[in-house]
Amino acid sequence: GNSCVSDSSDSVISSGSDSDAQVYKVVLLGEHGVGKSSLARIFGGVEDSNDCEETGNTYDRSLVVDDEETSILLYDIWEQDNSQWLKDQCMRMGDAYIIVYSVTDKSSFEKASELRIQLRRARQSENIPIILVGNKSDLVRSREVSVDEGSACAVVFDCKFIETSASLHHNVRDLFEGIVRQIRLRKDSKEE
Ligand code: GDP
Ligand code: MG
Repeated sequence: GNSCVSDSSDSVISSGSDSDAQVYKVVLLGEHGVGKSSLARIFGGVEDSNDCEETGNTYDRSLVVDDEETSILLYDIWEQDNSQWLKDQCMRMGDAYIIVYSVTDKSSFEKASELRIQLRRARQSENIPIILVGNKSDLVRSREVSVDEGSACAVVFDCKFIETSASLHHNVRDLFEGIVRQIRLRKDSKEE
């Protein structure tokens, strides 16, 4: 008969790509309105935002960073519904996290700290890559959280920090390259 499971040492079950073709799941967290979907759409290369308020998107993309290709699945599903199940699922599923707040909204910054604490609780023994993102850096006049406050928070919470502007596409590429580098670092230190 036709066997799916073969004892042959050849690669009978082929994924159709490289042997090291792991896909990393990156989950966006953060309060409503901070710019998660805007950042995700830039990552996904779908900037024509007709469906602005659409929720629950996943973006699949490969990034070449430092001459090496990495596949990322970016989940913008945190606000898809209000179920605790989904929140728990989000906290469990990610290989890496992007926690977003708006520099124009102090309460979203406080929420980001809360999320960081929840994440630590959910994934205690794991050393998961996390980047704290202060988005909307273009809105200079309505800024409520300084760069120093943001980076100090990241130090306390032991994660990376970057300020972005989805509107101006400022630092967005750096953000996603940064998460890829973080993933590689943690992976390498695990495989030593
Ligand atoms: P989400 O609820 O976290 O997914 O946030 P959205 O991506 O839907 O963005 C909420 C609102 O903030 C939208 O009106 C965006 O156009 C706006 N927005 C997002 N990022 C930026 C940014 O970097 N600068 C400015 N000025 N507005 C932004
Ligand atoms: Mg959204």
